[in-house]
Amino acid sequence: MYGGSIFFCAPVVIQSAMAGQIKLCYNWKNLSTFATVCALRASNSVEYFNLHNYSNNMNLLKSLATAGFIGFLAVLPMSAEEHLKSLDPKQFDPNTPASADFYQHVTKGWRDAHPLTAEHARYGAFDVLNDSSEARVKRIVLGLGATNPKPGTVAHKVWTLYSQAMDSVRRNREGAAPIQADLKKIENTPHEEMTDLFLWMHGNYASPFFGAGPMEDLANSKEYAMYVSGGGMGLGDRDYYLLDDKRNKEVREAYKKLIVKQMQNAGLKGKDAKRIMTNVMKIETALADSAWTREQSRNIPAMYNPFTFAKLKETYPGVNWDRFFIETMGIPSPETVIVTEPNSVMQGVNLLSTLTDREIKDYYLWKYVAQAAGKLSDNFTDAAFEFNKVMSGVGEQRPRWKRALGATEGMLGEAVGQLYVEQYFPQSSKDYMVGLVENLRTALGKHIINLPWMSDDTKLNAIKKLNAFTVKIGYPDKWKDYSGMVIDPELSYYENMHNAGMWHQKEEYAKWGKPVDKTEWGMTPQTVNAYYNPLANEIVFPAAILQAPFYDPESSDAENYGGIGVVIGHEMTHGFDDQGRNFDADGNMVNWWTPEDAEKFAEKTKGLIAQFDAVEILPGLHGNGQYTLGENIADQGGLRVAMTAFLDSQKKKGVDITTEKIEGLTPMQVFYLNYANLWAQNIRDEEIRSLTQGDVHSLGKQRVNVTLRNIDPFFEAFSIKEGDKMFRPVEERVVIW
Ligand SMILES: [Zn+2]
Repeated sequence: MYGGSIFFCAPVVIQSAMAGQIKLCYNWKNLSTFATVCALRASNSVEYFNLHNYSNNMNLLKSLATAGFIGFLAVLPMSAEEHLKSLDPKQFDPNTPASADFYQHVTKGWRDAHPLTAEHARYGAFDVLNDSSEARVKRIVLGLGATNPKPGTVAHKVWTLYSQAMDSVRRNREGAAPIQADLKKIENTPHEEMTDLFLWMHGNYASPFFGAGPMEDLANSKEYAMYVSGGGMGLGDRDYYLLDDKRNKEVREAYKKLIVKQMQNAGLKGKDAKRIMTNVMKIETALADSAWTREQSRNIPAMYNPFTFAKLKETYPGVNWDRFFIETMGIPSPETVIVTEPNSVMQGVNLLSTLTDREIKDYYLWKYVAQAAGKLSDNFTDAAFEFNKVMSGVGEQRPRWKRALGATEGMLGEAVGQLYVEQYFPQSSKDYMVGLVENLRTALGKHIINLPWMSDDTKLNAIKKLNAFTVKIGYPDKWKDYSGMVIDPELSYYENMHNAGMWHQKEEYAKWGKPVDKTEWGMTPQTVNAYYNPLANEIVFPAAILQAPFYDPESSDAENYGGIGVVIGHEMTHGFDDQGRNFDADGNMVNWWTPEDAEKFAEKTKGLIAQFDAVEILPGLHGNGQYTLGENIADQGGLRVAMTAFLDSQKKKGVDITTEKIEGLTPMQVFYLNYANLWAQNIRDEEIRSLTQGDVHSLGKQRVNVTLRNIDPFFEAFSIKEGDKMFRPVEERVVIW
């Protein structure tokens, strides 16, 4: 998925004990230790950095991630007369015809009307929705405060956490005091207790050297399995450490400065802070050296490497694994452990056994401070912001209230979500979506059956999987029970956030040995996004995405199908893309394709990879067709399937789309115009570079101009012919679904 600020998500997992992370953008769930993050990275927030600080099964999740989110549609009720609601033709660029640059034609007016403010690294149509969702959540939280909630109630917890996040006076007075005892503990640990220190770090604060935790068993999604993964890099991606081009060097230098600054903020002397930075860079660069590339990490089957517990101990003797699982998770030695990147884990374990105590402690000190920084005084968040400026080009921090809401929702998201749904999500929207999703399901089934390149055997399995999709709309059937979480106004904000994070972590670990609960949600209802979770074979649409320009009951069918309809189609096709096709109808990792079909699929995707590789986004910067393949297939499939569903729906209603006009436009035109409209956005060059390096989604402009040029009816709708810039010869168009 993708989304506004979010662009369709891609799940990434992070350790729940850290940051306020459970803000899932899109991940499909938080697995035990992991929670997902997704693109939710509200660009210039402090969390942006923290979000990349996870380490657990991040790569695995990242690769599992597929989905994005998107828009939506609606068909159903329709007023007798169609009219535009999500689209405003007055904003189309009269100087750029659709046939020359469709993206420019549709979005220029919107972009001119929404110049970037210093706070944003990018701002697009999705962000308008995010803003509206955020404003609603703010009203809800302030409303709770106004009721003067009783201690112990969930309302009191929400209000306390939010108030503490807002209370910069107290936090600035406390400075680094809340973390001093722990920093001393790390510093003063004698050599013979270094193993205890390692376990303490893993159990409470961060995942140095490698990640570990339970998550659904990929081969049997009804049960949990234990995973050990590579990780431990603060910058998340190996290229930042290893490549010497200008951009990667800039980010690396900014990271070094950040480390020194934060260690000084934590009370260390300049020369100690520098030594720590040097040791951290040495260790994280070594970890990067063995880390998988982004492209490698899309190969999910290659990450499924089961080890017996005996083999784990024998292969990685540098860790006391018996103590590791019981002391960091409260889980006795598992019979089997899945090692996702065996060579990366080996590197982490070797470093642990060969580095000096001084080097290891310096690495821990940084890991500790990095996870704490967003919950301490303003000098910490200011330093993180300086780093974010380099990453995304923003000029101003997000307002404190937005950061405070983000942190509160990270810990108590469903508590707020429940109120959000009561106030802002009518049953009629849910009913709409149910009908819409079924129309899309039928349309995708037709496409699959008619595929010329797929064999009947594989088609049968594909249809079986399609029919088995679980659809979740709006909000979870059962809400999380936060009654056991303790939030105490007497404690510091840092302590409360840490305790809340530990509560989430404990909840995840407590699932070990129990069947997987498939009713859980990986996003809160107030999130503007959507996702596909291959392990449950489910598509999920939170309440907040069901608004214009994705969906509006007063918009035309054409707009709604070009909006949320495409999003639904996008999520559905994730079940069949380069990653989703590794999982069957039950969410188990089973190869249900014949080898010939797999071969044909791979061959077809080559054309699409080349199309996106060929785009020069900024001078010298090209798209990464391999890395963004799954999302590009999903966009294209979503567009094709949503169009079929739209045409079917109009036929059923007796509407003749060849003669129908909506404010002077044909319904076909409106469909594609609103799709492009979703991607209207302004974006800074730095953010373009960060996203191109780390986001599985293509940028908005390419999602429009590259993708649409594979879709036959698009050319017809706008009479685009040979010689026009938007034209692509029929033989070069790639059709997969
Ligand atoms: Zn997606």
